[in-house]
Amino acid sequence: MTHLIMAVNAGSSSLKFELFAMPEEITLAKGLFERLGSGSARFTLRADGGTHQADVALNDHQQAAEYLLDTLLQRGIVDSLAHIDGVGHRVAHGGEYFKDSAPIDAAALEEIDALGALAPIHNPVNAKGIRAFQRRLPHAVCVGVFDTSFHQTISEAGYLYPLPYRYYHDYGIRRYGFHGTSHKYIAETCAGLLGRRDLRIISCHLGNGASICAINGGRSVATSMGFTPLAGLMMGTRCGDIDPSIVPFIALRENKSAQQLLEIMNNASGLLGVSGISNDCRDIVSAAESGNHRAALALAMFTDRIRSAIGAYATEMDGVDVVIFTAGIGENAAGIRRQICRNLAFLGIRVDENKNKRHATFIQQDGAPVIVAVIPTNEELMIARDVMRVGLAQPKEVQHVG
Ligand code: ADP
Repeated sequence: MTHLIMAVNAGSSSLKFELFAMPEEITLAKGLFERLGSGSARFTLRADGGTHQADVALNDHQQAAEYLLDTLLQRGIVDSLAHIDGVGHRVAHGGEYFKDSAPIDAAALEEIDALGALAPIHNPVNAKGIRAFQRRLPHAVCVGVFDTSFHQTISEAGYLYPLPYRYYHDYGIRRYGFHGTSHKYIAETCAGLLGRRDLRIISCHLGNGASICAINGGRSVATSMGFTPLAGLMMGTRCGDIDPSIVPFIALRENKSAQQLLEIMNNASGLLGVSGISNDCRDIVSAAESGNHRAALALAMFTDRIRSAIGAYATEMDGVDVVIFTAGIGENAAGIRRQICRNLAFLGIRVDENKNKRHATFIQQDGAPVIVAVIPTNEELMIARDVMRVGLAQPKEVQHVG
């Protein structure tokens, strides 16, 4: 039986959506609202092979949800809202409470609100998105899909920071990891393509935000983001891991507050901060090709950190079977993939430059021991699959023996 499932990703001023027919995994409509809250939101809808755009006076996520559902009805994309059986919501932080995607009832929603202490920019807005769709689609199952839950399999030694233990106990300060929905999708897709589950995978999600994950037999065993998505790799505007003493040093020198330093590390660092040009990797690549030193330096720093993580994760898993590149940079930047994989033959990683330039799915040299793959991520589809798995799966029949 076909179910209509909506995947929702609510940001502070945006709301992205994709409507699927499941389990066929067919996209019926997708799009987004931008500039929500500014009085004039931009609405983009892709359906039936066409794109519709409009500026609409919407103030918040509730109004956006109403507008979207009315538009789907008016355009005949759905005949009745009663046909939408499930809505899956991307939620940034699931803490230690949500170890998997979960149906969202009143208690779960309270928990998401409470986890706003750890993700003050994202969780409250994710909760707004949930309430907005629950009001208009009270019959539909509602499922939360958390960026953190895939990484809940990381060991205690892997997730604790070497700070006084009470900070973990009192405030939940530990590594949580993010991009879990993407890393999980990548691992499942790779297992499907290769027909094997017992794989040691290093998944490189390289977009504006970037993280890397070691996945052993389908379980996350290490990941580069930490207590927040600021940690780990260098990113478009985020610094990733730095010596923590730099933070109070700059604060004292320049009389800056904790908030101002967070702003610098989140929004003015990374590729943008080092190059002084842009946070967009395409701009950095073209500037580096025209001989700009700081652009080339930014790229060298970006790729060096990824190489270090690949080495660390191969150690963690006692070897590696597959390295996967995904997200905007991972899927499209052949030169960056080449730079990352250079001189890694000692690990068995050998890229065929012709296949790499063509963005083939498998780009390793013939006979190389490690598979190197380029796999487009699809977090929305993973969300829809999880709605089916945890929200709509038939309960297993009880077996009566004897
Ligand atoms: P987000 O984290 O915002 O979802 P994306 O996964 O869309 O990000 O990735 C955006 C990044 O991908 C940008 O830095 C963009 O420059 C980069 N990118 C896209 N295409 C290319 C390309 N051909 N070469 C280099 N970088 C690219």
